[in-house]
Amino acid sequence: MKIRYFDHAATTPVREEVVKEMLPFFGIEYGNASVMYSLGRNAKKAMKQARERVARAINADINEIYFTSCGSESDNLAIKGFAYENKNKGNHIITSKIEHHAVLDSCKTLENQGFKVTYLGVDENGKINLEELINSITNQTILITIMFANNEIGTIEPVEEIAKIAKEKNIVFHTDAVQAIGNAKIDVKKMDIDMLSLSGHKFYAPKGVGALYVKNGINFKKLQDGGEQESNKRAGTENVAGIVGLGKAIELIYNEYDWYNEKLKILRNHYMDRVKKEIDNIKINGDLIDRLPGNANISFRNVNGSELLFELDKYGICASAGSACSTSNPEPSHVLTAIGLDKEYIGGTLRVSFGKDNSIDDVDFLVNRLKEIIK
Ligand SMILES: *Cc1c(COP(=O)(O)O)cnc(C)c1O
Repeated sequence: MKIRYFDHAATTPVREEVVKEMLPFFGIEYGNASVMYSLGRNAKKAMKQARERVARAINADINEIYFTSCGSESDNLAIKGFAYENKNKGNHIITSKIEHHAVLDSCKTLENQGFKVTYLGVDENGKINLEELINSITNQTILITIMFANNEIGTIEPVEEIAKIAKEKNIVFHTDAVQAIGNAKIDVKKMDIDMLSLSGHKFYAPKGVGALYVKNGINFKKLQDGGEQESNKRAGTENVAGIVGLGKAIELIYNEYDWYNEKLKILRNHYMDRVKKEIDNIKINGDLIDRLPGNANISFRNVNGSELLFELDKYGICASAGSACSTSNPEPSHVLTAIGLDKEYIGGTLRVSFGKDNSIDDVDFLVNRLKEIIK
């Protein structure tokens, strides 16, 4: 059976060019990047190139990029690492109710350790309110962490405005940009972003490798102790192949930015237009304008989301109810709850996230099956 994959917000396939560039590092180039001889130097050189590629993609300096094992680790390091290092300056952190659990749970951990956290609400489109943000700042606030774009409903937050507010108040601003890489132009200098998390497997690099950008001059505490890798900020022999893959993938996705984003938008709009026209009792979630181009999140009234996924799977269709992290969890999604979605809609939510290898035919197949199943 042909697999039709519409779950790129959960993970993406690794692209061929990326695999090709990684392969030597599983074979002849097996050196440890920390050693002196030439085998290790090759690994070190490859990591340097990857770091340059990441830095170039977001307009950071090369020494502002730290490789990690995933987006979750980057979020943990940014939030907890920063809070521990700067607790003498204040104990208050501001975030939102719709963050990824890597952010929310890092904040919970800090709360248990005596920090205070404000969780900003969002409007029905999933956007934070800038007035509310300003009003929640105290003289104890050291960090604002708000996601660039939401992984469930695709809403893009007003990152530049948030950064401006943070800068005026001398507060550090971190953003989880895991969903935004490749789908938004990001210039950390121009946008005044102090810390930014990203993850390879959301833009066609492999799973198990991420990066954290931290602006020069901002200090954070090392969370994983051991060796002195990553400028002594993250111990552990580097995942050289993964890092090489991440570097290649981020360069490719930004080289192809216009084509890629236009393609996703066409697929997404075709899907949403057809669903709107051909299926009754639906609700489109998330902001319609400030939105990831490949995200469609639609709730079908009085439909069981898990059953819907199960039926779609019979046709080889991969999609998601809310988000991958919450499908085994019977609790309704914290994001859909935060936007105030009605009870009869919340359980029947389908997130479809498009990728570079989807076609209009695939989308038509999806909508046709969806119509049959829902009927
Ligand atoms: C996927 C995702 C993460 C976690 O990244 P991993 O590499 O899977 O740990 C964090 N934040 C957002 C917004 C995500 O979509």
